[in-house]
Amino acid sequence: MSCIFCRIVDGDLPSRTVYENSEALAFLDANPLAAGHTLVVPRAHHETVGDLPPETAGAVFEAVSAVTPRVERAVDADATTVAVNNGEAAGQEVPHTHVHVVPRFEGDGNGPIHRLFSSRPSLSDAELDDIAAAIRDGNE
Ligand code: 5GP
Ligand code: ZN
Repeated sequence: MSCIFCRIVDGDLPSRTVYENSEALAFLDANPLAAGHTLVVPRAHHETVGDLPPETAGAVFEAVSAVTPRVERAVDADATTVAVNNGEAAGQEVPHTHVHVVPRFEGDGNGPIHRLFSSRPSLSDAELDDIAAAIRDGNE
């Protein structure tokens, strides 16, 4: 099996596990953006957020919710950025869904997720209505 995170879940690769439930595992990122940077993964291999079965999605977010305040307390962080690079075009390098929990500190200068985007589209009300309808419709 070549997936790094599947190998960590299976215990074939070492990790610093910090939290687990029946369907999810949290461990320290090997190349942290800040001390305490933690990854939460489903135990089963699912590439993107939209691939997660509902129960698994719930278990992953339960782990995110449980581990985030523990991470903050452990490194005395003021806050956390909780984020997913969901798909290769969004910067996902490991194709096994993982939620980043990155400690943040007052004045760390790293800014909000909004800073990833250099501009915003100008959308008419009709375009927004169409987009909302397409999302509600949900066809694949
Ligand atoms: P992505 O860019 O896919 O959202 O993030 C992948 C993350 O996985 C990176 O932050 C990287 O440091 C981390 N990572 C890559 N390989 C390993 C590994 O073998 N062990 C651990 N604990 N983290 C890893
Ligand atoms: Zn995997």
